[in-house]
Amino acid sequence: MIAPLMPTYARADLAFERGEGVWLTGTDGRRYLDFAGGVAVSSLGHAHPRLVAAITEQAGKVWHVSNLFRIPEAERLAKMLVDVSFADTVFFCNSGAEAMECAIKVARKYHAVNGHPEKSRIIAFEGSFHGRTLATLAAAGAKKYLDGFGEPLAGFDHVPYGDLDAVKKAITPETGAIVVEPIQGEGGVRVPPSGFLRALRELCNEKGLLLVLDEVQTGLGRTGKFFAYEWAGIEPDVMAIAKGLGGGFPIGACLATEAAAKGMTAGTHGSTFGGNPLATAVAGTVVNIVLEKGFLDRVAKTGLLFKQRLAEMKDRHPAVIAEVRGEGLLLGLRAVVPNMDLVAACREECLLTAGAGENVVRLMPPLVTSDAEVAEAMNKLDRACQKIEATLAAHTRGAAE
Ligand SMILES: *Cc1c(COP(=O)(O)O)cnc(C)c1O
Repeated sequence: MIAPLMPTYARADLAFERGEGVWLTGTDGRRYLDFAGGVAVSSLGHAHPRLVAAITEQAGKVWHVSNLFRIPEAERLAKMLVDVSFADTVFFCNSGAEAMECAIKVARKYHAVNGHPEKSRIIAFEGSFHGRTLATLAAAGAKKYLDGFGEPLAGFDHVPYGDLDAVKKAITPETGAIVVEPIQGEGGVRVPPSGFLRALRELCNEKGLLLVLDEVQTGLGRTGKFFAYEWAGIEPDVMAIAKGLGGGFPIGACLATEAAAKGMTAGTHGSTFGGNPLATAVAGTVVNIVLEKGFLDRVAKTGLLFKQRLAEMKDRHPAVIAEVRGEGLLLGLRAVVPNMDLVAACREECLLTAGAGENVVRLMPPLVTSDAEVAEAMNKLDRACQKIEATLAAHTRGAAE
């Protein structure tokens, strides 16, 4: 019999009662170190006092009024995002996929209103992830997610991630934009070759294409800069963000330059819930905290320390860990054993992690993680690796007998 909760996830048999900072208390009574971070969403950890205060205060005032009216909290948040980014204007929605849907629409509309409706094709990358709506699935082009869901939305051309020549070859007179993640998160914490984003930016300038970044996972301080594109010293034309923006409250946003958003006039796009007072009050508090002096430097430093410790762990456990990847607090361990075996072994040690493509175990702790908590995670990971090695050794013995 089908479960009342539609079984589209292979969930771990574990639930939580409460959380505080980087820690979650399971209904099993154990305390877990949350380095899955709600898949890069719980940017300020659990029950952050200032987020609790912000949501409580706004909940007592007004939650939702719809976009038929002005929303001061949304106007304030939009201004903050504009001030801190390349963008001139922001559309709010409720998820990463919706933010990407908007980004795709902005890119197509831009060329349409500029007299080139034929420039509706978009170049995207193999191994990417842009969400689970039909358009964002078509954008990513992963067969395993598209299978059985009918004709995918037309207009996307896929090339290998990091392959500039392939991008150049894929450009036709119908190409209007390039969509790219600065680091592929779900794809396996894949960092592109250095200079790749900059080269894409130059190519877009040269060919009159829009550069659309998907920073749903990498944005909001995750890599140690407010946006990952800052590391590359470039600016996109359009960008989607979500995950960390609400610190756990659902909100997404599509950012664009004035030029790129030229066609996005009244009536061209919308969302009933998008940018409601509750969501934007919470997200405004998240943004304020992440922008406080020293916060991002701290994230970058913690990320560096974490990556160094993970590299040591790889040297200690070559039969379990093959490679360490990522930037800031978006890190990945390419596993030698099946990645979900390592995720399960870590969970047994009360360390929560997540899987990703290319047999990677993803680590996305809250941005407020301390050095002591990194050290604690290392002890747990060390024990998890030892247990896997013991199992491997037992298998080898078994096979020899
Ligand atoms: C998670 C993710 C999305 C989709 O976000 P949802 O909120 O699940 O719709 C899109 N792009 C990237 C890069 C992501 O990591």
